[in-house]
Amino acid sequence: MSLKERIEMVEERIQAACKRSGRNRDDVNIVAVTKYVSADMTRSVLEEGILHIGENRPQAAVPKWEALGGQGIWHFIGHLQSNKVKDVVGRFQYVHSLDRLSLAKELEKRAAALDLTVSAFLQVNVSGEASKQGVAPEEAAALLRETAGLAHVKIIGLMTMAPIVDDPELARPVFRKLRELRDELNAGAGGALKEPLTELSMGMSGDFEVAIEEGATWVRLGTLLVGKGEKT
Ligand SMILES: *Cc1c(COP(=O)(O)O)cnc(C)c1O
Repeated sequence: MSLKERIEMVEERIQAACKRSGRNRDDVNIVAVTKYVSADMTRSVLEEGILHIGENRPQAAVPKWEALGGQGIWHFIGHLQSNKVKDVVGRFQYVHSLDRLSLAKELEKRAAALDLTVSAFLQVNVSGEASKQGVAPEEAAALLRETAGLAHVKIIGLMTMAPIVDDPELARPVFRKLRELRDELNAGAGGALKEPLTELSMGMSGDFEVAIEEGATWVRLGTLLVGKGEKT
């Protein structure tokens, strides 16, 4: 399949999932995860009209970003070490993997220095798997309170990764819990939220339709959308 055909196929599946769940297609954004592919392929993705690019390793992402002259809107989706924040802020407008106060403070420092704002998702380990990053659901409210005063880090929603399973239905409870947690935080969170959390970053190639049915506003698609290697 060509890139164009892949995009069309994904688009049809997104529209069908929206229809099934009574959602508006415009409320679901695609992040094309380009971590497996080259800068040239990433350029093709942008040329096909997909604006949002996701990368998970600064070492690989920075040369790609430079090769493309920073075109597009970049999303950092992987574990972020504090000493790599300087490579990310100024290039990536979104960070999907905010999982600790020290990282939030480092993002704040770098963003303030450049006089810009980073949009962030709190990464939540809903499934409780030891291998997964993210705060435990019951820690999310505290982290929101602690980060509420940061002027250059705007927390817009929650992100999670579901367990990798063959049957996407098994991911549904994880996505549903993330949505419920967002709604609870908006209702409570000790009054820490200046603005409600609107966004849910959830769903990957194997489970994005279920994620959309459960309320995803950002799906992160690598393998299915851009492929895993050089071939399109
Ligand atoms: C790689 C990755 C994706 C995309 O995974 P695919 O299954 O290839 O779509 C999404 N989110 C994160 C955090 C990733 O690291």
